[in-house]
Amino acid sequence: MSQAPLSANGWPLPACPRFADILSARERIAGHIQATPLVRSPVLSRETGATVWLKLEQHQATGSFKLRGATNAILSLTSAERDRGVVGVSTGNHGRGLAHAAKEAGTRCIICMSRLVPQNKVEGIEALGAEVRIVGNSQDDAQVEVDRLVEEEGMTMLPPFDHPDIIAGQGTLGLEVVEALPEVEALLVPLSGGGLIAGVALAAKALKPSVRIVGVSMERGAAMYECQRAGRPISVPELPTLADSLGGGIGLENRYTFALVRDLVDELVLVSEAEIAQGIRHAYWKEQQTVEGSGAVGIAALLSGRVTDSGVTAVIVSGGNIDTNLHHRIVSGEDVDVTAE
Ligand SMILES: *Cc1c(COP(=O)(O)O)cnc(C)c1O
Repeated sequence: MSQAPLSANGWPLPACPRFADILSARERIAGHIQATPLVRSPVLSRETGATVWLKLEQHQATGSFKLRGATNAILSLTSAERDRGVVGVSTGNHGRGLAHAAKEAGTRCIICMSRLVPQNKVEGIEALGAEVRIVGNSQDDAQVEVDRLVEEEGMTMLPPFDHPDIIAGQGTLGLEVVEALPEVEALLVPLSGGGLIAGVALAAKALKPSVRIVGVSMERGAAMYECQRAGRPISVPELPTLADSLGGGIGLENRYTFALVRDLVDELVLVSEAEIAQGIRHAYWKEQQTVEGSGAVGIAALLSGRVTDSGVTAVIVSGGNIDTNLHHRIVSGEDVDVTAE
């Protein structure tokens, strides 16, 4: 087991998640989440010379692994906290995971969003049983309302990645992969804020210290990549990309994931928009899987040769929530450029 990591500014972290927390998370969330399929990919294996397995997390309820962390965080609350409910600002996969997990636990959930969020996203969150509160014209306005709900109504804010219970929940994915595939030599993990890769790396390296953990982000707005290069959390502009679930910063006040990525991740690679599109196409035509851009970055990294010599490789396919029309255009071979739209 690795020693306790230090935070970005060198302080030991008080409640940094550990392997034991991931084992407890697994027990806590069993029965609430699916153990998703791990399937061999003969085509990717042939094309890359590695032995490639795909962990299909887009089959998780709500279409991404985010349900693991959200479920673990909600079930870890005290009963008083659960009675007061949870809040969040994400309109994407974290918001869906939170809404679904809260409903399952019988907990009130409010997702705050700005007026600019498209109606289909609002309806998607409502359909999962959460209350949507529309406030102001920006993410910052929505955050002000979240802070008020926390202050005045005692609700608990659950962030998308930088939280020990979220990280431990995502780590259950790492347990599943290494237990099902003990010969695994490399794990390719989509990387944004780093909750997923931090949890997976903690779990995988505790079970098998030699495993190589590779984080994959998009070239456009790779926040964690830039922060690691800078040696501290910095602000990185968000840009339109096919890997939209990987957008956003890591937080200048990042407490856990920056240090965990620094200490546990072996390599960070970036993929281009064209490579992400190729990953989505490959998943659809060769693996019969509908995958969103962020879920396809691991496949993209292998196909483009940005990751080589990986031996027995498990690729985490992290999610499948993609606009149907966009997906159709990509898989039918159209040269889609979201960066110009
Ligand atoms: C959130 C998300 C990621 C990245 O997870 P982090 O914990 O933020 O690194 C990857 N893929 C999908 C589909 C996601 O929703």
